[in-house]
Amino acid sequence: MNKRSKILMGMNCNKALESPLSYRDTNSIELFGKNVFSMSVMKQRLPKDIYKSLKKTTEMFTSLDGAVAAVVANAMKDWAIEKGATHYAHVFFPLTGATAEKHDSFLVPDLAGNAIAEFSGTTLIQGEPDASSFPNGGLRQTFEARGYTAWDVTSPAYIMESPNGATLCIPTAFVSWKGEALDKKTPILRSMQALNAQAQRILKLFGDTSKSMVLPTCGAEQEYFLIDKNFFMARPDIQAAGRTLFGAASPKGQQFDDHYFGAIADRVLSFMFEVERELYKLGIPVKTRHNEVAPGQFEIAPVFETANIATDHQQLVMVTLKKLAKKHDMECLLHEKPFAGINGSGKHCNYSFGNKTQGNLLDPGNTPHKNKQFLVLCAAIIRGVHKYAKVLRAVVASASNDHRLGANEAPPAIMSVFLGDQLTDIFRQIQAGTKISSQEAGVMKISVDALPDLPKDSGDRNRTSPFAFTGNRFEFRSVGSDQSVSGSLVAMNTIFADSLEYVADSLEKMTGGDPEKLDGAVEAVIKEIMDDHGAVVFNGDNYADAWQEEAARRGLPNLRTTPDALPSLMDEDVLEMFSRFKVLSRDEMESRYETYLEQYVLKIGVESKTVVEMAKTIIYPAAVRYQSELADTCLKMKELDLEYDDDTLKETAALTREFKNRLNNLEELTAGEPEETLAKAEYRCKEILPAMLGVRESADKLETLVSDDLWDLPTYQEMLFIK
Ligand code: ADP
Ligand code: MG
Repeated sequence: MNKRSKILMGMNCNKALESPLSYRDTNSIELFGKNVFSMSVMKQRLPKDIYKSLKKTTEMFTSLDGAVAAVVANAMKDWAIEKGATHYAHVFFPLTGATAEKHDSFLVPDLAGNAIAEFSGTTLIQGEPDASSFPNGGLRQTFEARGYTAWDVTSPAYIMESPNGATLCIPTAFVSWKGEALDKKTPILRSMQALNAQAQRILKLFGDTSKSMVLPTCGAEQEYFLIDKNFFMARPDIQAAGRTLFGAASPKGQQFDDHYFGAIADRVLSFMFEVERELYKLGIPVKTRHNEVAPGQFEIAPVFETANIATDHQQLVMVTLKKLAKKHDMECLLHEKPFAGINGSGKHCNYSFGNKTQGNLLDPGNTPHKNKQFLVLCAAIIRGVHKYAKVLRAVVASASNDHRLGANEAPPAIMSVFLGDQLTDIFRQIQAGTKISSQEAGVMKISVDALPDLPKDSGDRNRTSPFAFTGNRFEFRSVGSDQSVSGSLVAMNTIFADSLEYVADSLEKMTGGDPEKLDGAVEAVIKEIMDDHGAVVFNGDNYADAWQEEAARRGLPNLRTTPDALPSLMDEDVLEMFSRFKVLSRDEMESRYETYLEQYVLKIGVESKTVVEMAKTIIYPAAVRYQSELADTCLKMKELDLEYDDDTLKETAALTREFKNRLNNLEELTAGEPEETLAKAEYRCKEILPAMLGVRESADKLETLVSDDLWDLPTYQEMLFIK
């Protein structure tokens, strides 16, 4: 029995983990937020003035009163210990996109040989992990390797339970000793301040002087794959690179679309229930679950939250999916393209902004043409996406997401905005200077008497657009399933802050403080924006080849790969904008550019090494064994003077030769790499990746030829369909 057969024998097909949790004991409503040091917990446990001061900091981003920290730390410690915590951890988000944590115990020995629990205000506010090995793109020299974690008051602390203990987790920003951002959290908080400052100016012109902070909101839909643990164990490529580097297409793929929204298998459902309950405890409002398009692919989506909290929660969603999949003897694959030939995974990032007095500011209401404030905000977004399309492209660039963007399944690398017919119509009317009205939304008739008539959405959905208006928010669809949403949110907040600044400047100038002039000024600004940036609006099929040509005519950038896209971060206008809004200084941006480029290079390096190793030690031996088996047979048949056919032997020999030649070619190319990082990234993109694909192509042909009992790698058919 070969390795693969043993795996198949050992599988526990579709068996749900039995009563993994006592869901009957506690309902999910009671469970929600149970492990969060939330505002309501603080209200109960903190003196009134301390609570008020803290609340103000979280709502208005005002600076934190130093005396507050000591009191909060003490209350937090008592609460955590009551919940069984023995340790606390500053959780931070390095540029790798991962979640990092350093744990310390509350326990401090006293002089009498006993121990007490201690957690001071200073320890809450600041940590100093020796985190010198995180990528920093040159921001930290080794002699100044200090990195600090600073308590993010705006994101609540929580308890992370594990089988043998519990840890108090404190979300923090991670900065160098000079205060430079080394992480994904710091710029998001800065960008939220920038967005708010500019939005306030516009709201003020429209008469909202509440000063209630305008905060961006985010709801991220996470797609993922699940495969059985046994398969994962037998696939070095998935272990090392998160995706299959070999594998012939299975006869049945996703062509029947029978998985999409299909009934969820018990084993998977049992996993989902447990994931959701763990996330509820952490106060993460997960709401939606379903099967996705590809076999073995699923989605989980929360109710949206303020961008900084949504980002922390999104990281926890990824961590929890990965962790609990293992518990259920499965592996969760977050890679954007784990399997060739079937759909990859994205993380649609739904985005809007709003404040306490008005709620969602991108909600047009029923008569959008009358909602001038909405229209002008929307115009600002159009301008931003057009002006800084390259930034939006660059922040979603990665070795793994390159497999998605540009393939005919995900939005292309060209950034455009879908507005829908109704809004496009309004903007075009304003541009043309005609009297404006809204197309009627109306009622949808289903023509079954027993069914209610449904109110019809004013515009249809367009699932091919990278940046689509979906009724009361924009959906940025290019984000990769494996990526932190932080980069995208930072980019959107900053780009839109820039556009809001432009709009506010124009409106302030045109009205000169006279509210009577506002309507006219708004129309003038919208017309100007549509004239200059309307080219980015596209409601058609983004997957069609014709769009590539049309977009080129419109002058929209089409940055297909990461090495094409990342250098935009270093363009002068981009550096200027990010430093003007104090979101990222030039040095900080440069450090990010270098880190992301380096990560691209490293990822493809790991992949090509894995290809070579698997090719040599798994696939080549199988091919040669089969060849020898066939040759033996042929020889024996010949000896016995029996008729024999050597077609298969010849085919196998030729394919094996081709496979080996391509492998040699890959190794030669790898030996001749340039040194400089950007050149290396381009080389890996243009030379190494195609050479890897060449090896794969021959290997996949061998897979469909070589005797099944000699093939040790689990097949696509098995990995995708056996649960
Ligand atoms: P679909 O798959 O149809 O796009 P989902 O229900 O899967 O929709 O996801 C929509 C996401 O958009 C949810 O996370 C939802 O909370 C989020 N969302 C809704 N309103 C807003 C908003 N104002 N700001 C940000 N996200 C929002
Ligand atoms: Mg969805």
